[in-house]
Amino acid sequence: MKRSAPLVLLLSATLLASQEQIAPPENKYTPAQDVELGLQAATEVRQQMPLMRDDLMSSYVEELGRRLTAAIRPDLRHSEFRYSFEVVNVREINAFALPGGPMFVNRGMIEAAKTEGEVAGVMAHELSHVVLRHGTAQASKATKYEVGQVAGAVLGAIIGGGWGQVISQGTQFGLGAAFMRFSREFERQADIEGSHIMARAGYDPRDMANMFKTIEKQSGSGGPQWLSDHPNPGNRSEYITREAQLLRVENPIRDTRTFDQVKAHLRQLPPAPTTEQATKNRGRTTGTSGRNTGVPTGRVDPPSSSFRTYNEGNLFQVSVPANWQEIQSSSSVTFAPSGAYGQNNGQTVFTHGVEFGLGRNETHDLQTATDELIQSLANGNPNLSRASGYQRVNVADRRGLRTVLRNRSEVTGQDEAIQLVTTQMQDGNLFYAIGVAPGNEFSNYQRVFDRVVGSLQLARQR
Ligand SMILES: [Zn+2]
Repeated sequence: MKRSAPLVLLLSATLLASQEQIAPPENKYTPAQDVELGLQAATEVRQQMPLMRDDLMSSYVEELGRRLTAAIRPDLRHSEFRYSFEVVNVREINAFALPGGPMFVNRGMIEAAKTEGEVAGVMAHELSHVVLRHGTAQASKATKYEVGQVAGAVLGAIIGGGWGQVISQGTQFGLGAAFMRFSREFERQADIEGSHIMARAGYDPRDMANMFKTIEKQSGSGGPQWLSDHPNPGNRSEYITREAQLLRVENPIRDTRTFDQVKAHLRQLPPAPTTEQATKNRGRTTGTSGRNTGVPTGRVDPPSSSFRTYNEGNLFQVSVPANWQEIQSSSSVTFAPSGAYGQNNGQTVFTHGVEFGLGRNETHDLQTATDELIQSLANGNPNLSRASGYQRVNVADRRGLRTVLRNRSEVTGQDEAIQLVTTQMQDGNLFYAIGVAPGNEFSNYQRVFDRVVGSLQLARQR
């Protein structure tokens, strides 16, 4: 495919010098490890997600990607990195890039974009996360507990995102989330670096801000997945616009004939499925737990009255009913009796038991962080509601909160009750326990949940 050369050329060195120079954050991984981790995750994405193998689409995103990668700041070029650009045939407005270079753009993103600059804006932002190595920089902060099976965790974060069951695993926290969901500071960095890449590639950085507005407006039924992975650091449009003014891109690329062709082509195709529809029948044999656990049968033995102690490395220790097995994922550990745990519509779910996990919490107090956790659960679970207010409790000698939620289980169709207990680690991150039981068995299970949570000990150093 031929494209006209960009009309705008390199900005003068003096202009660039006036820009903020973003320094890549501390990182204990090597660039080669970025590549390895990213390839692993990309392989799984390619197996599980429907890619568009379509000449026009492929050459379009590859060409756009090539133009953007050619505009990467010299000191951020990692010779090991292998960039690839692929379109996923799903309708949600989303895009993601993995460490070391693989990038996936949803068809829904291209359909929602009003101009090529808007597509370029999202891609430049994603590319900036890659070149600044934000995924592994975030993983550098994670403990052994969070660093598990990378690929499954990433996939969980992609597929599970807005559609997960209350109790789907690996969707909200942990390493998958570390690769996919960025802190506000990293977001600001990617916005700034992304606007520089855009300008050097001949695009107007304001198109990036425009696309973010489009995403905010159009984030449809599945919840604004892109925005929850890339939270607005505040005043996003304003500082991107300021940056654009400093960069002074004159004659930004306006030749969008290929973009128009792509849009016309997409309109002729049958509508893209949702991610949920597209991934439903693709067995997630390499899911987050790595175990083939079958479907919850609902035939569940009552909790054993004898308890056993479980020790999770340097993070926590807890006692659970002896007949509850532990199911590890990269980001959480679940204790559930046989028959209560398994896969449903590609999601890992449980109907009885307790899950423990850790969520990143940057600046918030306990209640705000807990509100956010509940909100993220509610995003994928329209039937979730709060059944009680917050009750102050003591969790492992720390200040904690307890609340009860109600949901309709997508496995059984029955009402289920969820007891959520949260507290904060020394570093401020949120530690949570989610107890789940069918509504009509909740009073029995609540006693068990309380005993389990009462036995909890948290590591001092975190
Ligand atoms: Zn981002």
